[in-house]
Amino acid sequence: MSSGDRQHAVTNAVPAELFINGRWQPSSGAKTFDVEDPSTGEVLRAVADATPQDGMAALDAAVAAQARWARYPPRERGEILRRAYEMMMRRQDDLALLMTLEMGKPLTESRGEIAYAAEFFRWFAEEAVRVDGSFATAPNGAGRVLTMRQPVGPSLLITPWNFPAAMGTRKIGPAVAAGCTMVLKPASLTPLSMLAIADLLAECGLPDGVLNVVPSSRPGQLMEPLIRDGRARKLSFTGSTEVGRLLLEQCAEQIMRTSMELGGNAPFLVFADADLDAALQGAMVAKMRNIGEACTAANRFYVHADLVEEFSHRLAERMSSLRIGRGSDEGVQVGPLIDAKARDKVQHLVDDAVARGAQVLVGGEPVDGPGYFYRPTVLVNVPSDAELTSTEIFGPVAPITSFTDEQQVLAAANDSPFGLVSYVYTRDLNRALRVCEGLEAGMVGLNQGLVSNPAAPFGGIKHSGLGREGGAGGIEEFLETKYVAVAT
Ligand code: NAP
Repeated sequence: MSSGDRQHAVTNAVPAELFINGRWQPSSGAKTFDVEDPSTGEVLRAVADATPQDGMAALDAAVAAQARWARYPPRERGEILRRAYEMMMRRQDDLALLMTLEMGKPLTESRGEIAYAAEFFRWFAEEAVRVDGSFATAPNGAGRVLTMRQPVGPSLLITPWNFPAAMGTRKIGPAVAAGCTMVLKPASLTPLSMLAIADLLAECGLPDGVLNVVPSSRPGQLMEPLIRDGRARKLSFTGSTEVGRLLLEQCAEQIMRTSMELGGNAPFLVFADADLDAALQGAMVAKMRNIGEACTAANRFYVHADLVEEFSHRLAERMSSLRIGRGSDEGVQVGPLIDAKARDKVQHLVDDAVARGAQVLVGGEPVDGPGYFYRPTVLVNVPSDAELTSTEIFGPVAPITSFTDEQQVLAAANDSPFGLVSYVYTRDLNRALRVCEGLEAGMVGLNQGLVSNPAAPFGGIKHSGLGREGGAGGIEEFLETKYVAVAT
C-alpha cells in the first residue's frame, strides 16, 4: 500500500460520528465540521457536529448508565482498561499516523504519545482494584468510624488538541477505574484520535453509555447546558487558563467537583555548575517536544552568565539542524504548528521580543509553502518585559536570558501567575533541593527535561490548575469519601 493510500485508510477507518449510548450516530442537526491536516491545510475528514440536543442525549446516557456501572466489579472494569491498553499498543502505528495527520507532530512523537496514552489505561487497570476505605475506633472508644470511597458520578471531560490521545486517556482511565460514566468533548481541531479510542474501548467491552463522545464546533453552546444541568457531578478540563476560569464559574452554580489542567509558562534554570551536555539535551526535549506546543514546554531559559554563550550557541546549532517537514514523513523532527493563528501568534511574540532588543541566533520566521511551519528559533538577551516571557509561546522558540544570582533567578522564575512545571540543572545537591523547594510549580524536572509519567501526579498550582492526574492520587479525582458513624 502506498503511504497516501495508508493515510486514507487510517483516516477513513475512524467512525467520524457522535458516540452516544454505545451507538455511532450523525448530528441531530445533520451538520459536520472539517478536520484539517495542518501540514497541508487539506481536509482530512468531516466529523459530525454535536448540537446541544446531542449533548443532552449523551448526558442522559451517562446518567442512565451510572448506577449499574458503579456496581460493576472493579476487576472487570480494570480488565476492560487492560484490554484497551493492549489493543492500543497493537494498533500503535495506525493510531500514531492518525494523530500525526490531524495534529502535525512527527510520527516518532505520535508513537510516543500513543504509548503514553495507553499507559494510563494500564496504570488505572491496576488502580481499579485498589480503591479502599477505612475502619477505626473513635478516640473516645464509644463508636466506630467507617469510611468508604464511591464514584463521584457522571463526569464531563473536555480535552485540548495538543495531545489528542493522552489528555483523554488520562481522564478516561481513572473515571473507568472509579466507576464513573462520562461525556467527553474532544478538541474540534483533533477529534479523530479520541473517536478511534472510543471505538477501541467499545471493542474491549466498555458497556453502552459509560463513555459518550461528542465532538462539536461550538464548545460553549454544547457544554454550558450540561454543566448547568446539575446531573453531572464532575468536570475534568484540560486546556487554557482562560477557558478553565470560565468553566469554573459555570461549575460554581452546581457546586461541581472540578479538575483543571491549565496553561503553563515553564522556566528552565541552568546553574553554573550544571552538566552542560545534559542541560542542552534537556532543553531540546523541554522546548521541542510536541513542536513546543505543550503546557510543559520550557518558555523562559535562564542560564548562568558563565555558561550562557556556549549554551546559546550550542542550542542554536541543534535547533537549526532539526529536520522540518510533514510529520508523517519518516525522519522529520519538526512538524507544523496547529493552524495559521498559532503560527501568527508565534511570529508576533518573536517580533515583539526583537523590537525590545532581543537578538535572533537562529530561525525567527515561518517556513514558506503550504502548512503552518515555523523555524526552530533561539533568541538571546531577551528583556524581561518582552511579551513572550509572560505568555505561553506554544511554538518552537527558545528565549534565553542570563543571570548571576540564585535568589534573583528564583524570583524571576516565580514571577508568573502560572505554576505548572519548572526545570532546574545543577550538580549541587543542596542547591537542587533549595531551588526545588523555592520554585512555585506543581512539578519540577531536576536535571531532566521531561516530567510526564503516568505513575506520577501531574498538575499545577496558581493559574495552572487544580487537582492532579495520574499517579496513585489520579483516581481520587473521581471518588468521593463517605463517612459512616457506627454506633457500638
Ligand atoms: P482551549 O482553547 O482552552 O480548549 C480546550 C478545550 O476546551 C477544547 O476542547 C475546546 O473546544 C474547549 N472549549 C473552548 N471553549 C469552551 C467553552 N466555552 N466551553 C467549553 N469548552 C470549551 O485550549 P487549547 O488551545 O485546545 O489547548 C491549549 C491549552 O491547553 C494551553 O494553554 C495548554 O497549556 C493547555 N494544556 C494544559 C495541559 C495540562 O495538563 N496542564 C495539558 C495540555 C494542554 P474547541 O476545540 O472546540 O475550541
